[in-house]
Amino acid sequence: MTVPISSRAMGIVDSPTLAISARAKAMKKEGVDVVGFGAGEPDFPTPPHIVEAAEKAMKDGATKYTPASGTPELKEAICAWLEKETGVTYAPASVVVSCGAKHSLYNLMQILFQEGDEVVLPSPYWVSYPEQIKLSGAAPLIIPASEENGFKVSAEQLEEHITDGTKGLILNSPSNPTGAVYNRGELEDIASVCVKHGIVVISDEIYSRLTYSGASHVSIASLGKDIRNLTFVVNGVSKTYSMTGWRIGFAAGPLEAMKAVGRLQSQSTSNPTSIAQEASVAALTGDQGVVEEMHREFDERRKAMVYGLNGIPGVTCREPHGAFYCFPNVKELFGRTLGDSEITGSSALAEVCLEKANVAIVPGEAFGADEFIRLSYATSRDRIEEGLKRLGRLFGGEC
Ligand SMILES: *Cc1c(COP(=O)(O)O)cnc(C)c1O
Repeated sequence: MTVPISSRAMGIVDSPTLAISARAKAMKKEGVDVVGFGAGEPDFPTPPHIVEAAEKAMKDGATKYTPASGTPELKEAICAWLEKETGVTYAPASVVVSCGAKHSLYNLMQILFQEGDEVVLPSPYWVSYPEQIKLSGAAPLIIPASEENGFKVSAEQLEEHITDGTKGLILNSPSNPTGAVYNRGELEDIASVCVKHGIVVISDEIYSRLTYSGASHVSIASLGKDIRNLTFVVNGVSKTYSMTGWRIGFAAGPLEAMKAVGRLQSQSTSNPTSIAQEASVAALTGDQGVVEEMHREFDERRKAMVYGLNGIPGVTCREPHGAFYCFPNVKELFGRTLGDSEITGSSALAEVCLEKANVAIVPGEAFGADEFIRLSYATSRDRIEEGLKRLGRLFGGEC
């Protein structure tokens, strides 16, 4: 007999990005030389001064419960860091530290949305947003951002889709998976629509330090008092400091709502790991040169990958301006037969890439955009070159 699970749990799909990296890892373990373009995490080790801070924390006895919403030291560090990052001054009481930005997003959706609410989600979207919206009881209202428009939705598009039930908007700039970065003007227009209709914005700014080609990060929260009072900024140490395993993310926003986030967390996970919190203080307040070094390397890889992809038959890739992903259009390959399989869509293509070329990519279908695939350039330039060579052979019909 199987145990019946709740309808809430029945509705959740497994994270497709994590599933693909798990499969690629299993193949590697069996000795297969897999080129991994699937990963959604930096390949660099966590910088040594951050690791040392964690060692010191353990030795000094920082191994007990902390306040559920985070230590005062870390909240102070986050406020100072966010002020530089967003131009907005937050009080420590308006900040909650959670077990990764993903957890911050989950908490926010739980306290902001409910049954009957609609939450606008531009597509292509990061895989966890629709699931987290549904877990809150609300319904995602997906607005497609076209490739021609640089994978960005316009304020007009947003306005057209708003109904009486529209409660929130999920914004992710720089974007995973497209690398799109909204500029100030675009955000000002979107902010006006949100203020006019009283729409709450969850602004996932986890890639704020990773912008290229003259693009720079603007936080929608910085565009005036009215929009700031509707906006929740989410960020964390995972991507910027190569600390994905440490599980520290944070959210900042209007005080009363953030207090509700704190209450939710106090009754669910309690505090994020004490040791990781101390390490995060070192990350946010310590030498930022390490971030610059990683950024420079990402930029070189980005250029190499975009150039390489555009040289592969059937693939066209726009230049991404942020994060560490390329999101090329592969629809020309659909309907063809590659390595004995008919390519019916991005998932079939990802399957063939892994099986026949031993290259792990993520199908665009996972992000609500089936004509695309996502390749992460969080891997060495040698591996990028090798992986693209293999894809070139496969797509050129040589496998
Ligand atoms: C990686 C990622 C996150 C989650 O980061 P964690 O802090 O590791 O939970 C959130 N949003 C986007 C868009 C991401 O790519």
